[in-house]
Amino acid sequence: MSKYIFITGGVVSSLGKGITAASVGKLLESRGLKVTIIKCDPYINVDPGTMNPYQHGEVYVTDDGAETDLDLGHYERFTNAKLTRDNNITTGKIYYSVITKERAGHYLGKTVQIIPHITDEIKNGIKKVAAHQKVDVVIVEIGGTVGDIEGLPFLEAIRQLRLELGKDYAINIHVTLVPYIKSAGEIKTKPTQHSVGTLREIGIIPDIIACRTEKPLSKETREKIGLFCNVDTEAVIPVIDVKNIYEVPVVLKKECLDALIVRLLNLRCADSDLSVWENEVLKRLKQSSREVRIAVVGKYIALQDAYKSIYEALTHGAIANGVKLYIKKVDSEDIEKDGPEKHLSDVGGVLVPGGFGGRGMEGKIAAIRYAREKGMPFLGICLGMQMAAAEFARNVCGLSRANSTEFDKNTRYPVISLLEEQKKVKEMGGSMRLGAYECRINKDSKAYDAYRRETIFERHRHRYEFNNKYREVMKKNGLIFSGFHPKGDLVEMIELKTHPWFVACQFHPEFKSKPDKAHPLFKEFIKHSIT
Ligand code: GLN
Repeated sequence: MSKYIFITGGVVSSLGKGITAASVGKLLESRGLKVTIIKCDPYINVDPGTMNPYQHGEVYVTDDGAETDLDLGHYERFTNAKLTRDNNITTGKIYYSVITKERAGHYLGKTVQIIPHITDEIKNGIKKVAAHQKVDVVIVEIGGTVGDIEGLPFLEAIRQLRLELGKDYAINIHVTLVPYIKSAGEIKTKPTQHSVGTLREIGIIPDIIACRTEKPLSKETREKIGLFCNVDTEAVIPVIDVKNIYEVPVVLKKECLDALIVRLLNLRCADSDLSVWENEVLKRLKQSSREVRIAVVGKYIALQDAYKSIYEALTHGAIANGVKLYIKKVDSEDIEKDGPEKHLSDVGGVLVPGGFGGRGMEGKIAAIRYAREKGMPFLGICLGMQMAAAEFARNVCGLSRANSTEFDKNTRYPVISLLEEQKKVKEMGGSMRLGAYECRINKDSKAYDAYRRETIFERHRHRYEFNNKYREVMKKNGLIFSGFHPKGDLVEMIELKTHPWFVACQFHPEFKSKPDKAHPLFKEFIKHSIT
């Protein structure tokens, strides 16, 4: 039977609960345990797929084609857990299912209520993952902050689960902020006390309190938090700010968090061993002295979270090449204003990520042209590939104003057009070409040099696609089609014949990169971008 760790958060949002959950997963895996991680998101959207990046940050895509919270990206980067659509539970999903059952007459005349029907649905969703993925430990992160109205049914569900399962089978970790007040020169425990107080009002008693802090916590502070929050001093775990998120598992190990979890849950397992992680990831991160400069040209540049997996995958590529990464975030609208030279002349490589909508699109095309003409390494992802095709059509093949029909319905040269299967799509939620699809790679290509394989599986999230009508003319002019999805003959990868490294893909390689196993395209892109 699986055991459960419930992770809640208090005081403020953006505490790094996701990184904490992922790090706990990493630590338990390093003890030989099999883990999975679930994210519960209290919003009413069924999934984040319909949300603007300004609302939600990146939408992470799983192999089975679910559009999920970006925390699932952290879970997959830190652990070997194979996440599915069931690993992200939202209020929207829960209500959708309960209301569908109600309409079908499933509740046999009963009044359908939050308790027990919504809470049962949440509990069943959590237990289903445990049963299907056959793991030793299920980590469940509850999104939002304790005290949010939306989060209450989830908290009630985990309260019930803990009661049903007993304390050997389920524990609660509460992540809080212990702020340092500069003017007073003091660390403050009151917000933590209040947030634990709020948790206890709804019947949840934390077993462990993880305290995010910028200064080390003294023994007295830990004792005080322990006393006021009703946990042992050793269960007050300081999580001090670190430079790089990949250090967090090591910090938590030093504070003996995993040993405590093992004891509380009575787990039978080996000692934790992070040596590979420390040698392959952390040491390399610190030791690298040479720098690689990469420009990411997009329209959500101001937002930390919008290109999360891209930034992480670039970091992994840098780790694999033993170099320090500097990411220059360039707003494509600035390129429209100033031209590419001003923003791109000081970088070693240019990456154009995925995106939707026409704003800033001409800036992306100008950036791609610059990389192509200057022989600067270029990686185009999804919309980045589509724009690379439009740029090549316009400026090499003479198809002036070639475009994607997403941005110009009446373009004379629709080099990117709606996928056939998308033409009948009416509803926007979950209806793109999503998840892992096979791609066959031509041997004589840069793509093959990177992957060293002829068949790969990569994750997708798009509605538009390269228009095969233009394959011939583009090929004649020097564009190489190096990867295809066999069914329907869809173009998945393009590259340039006469360029040091210009590769673009319709899929999202960033979702499958890990710190200790950089994605081959990112590894190669970084390698060629070192100047
Ligand atoms: N907007 C483009 C499409 O739907 C690209 C999507 C993306 O970059 N994820 O095909």
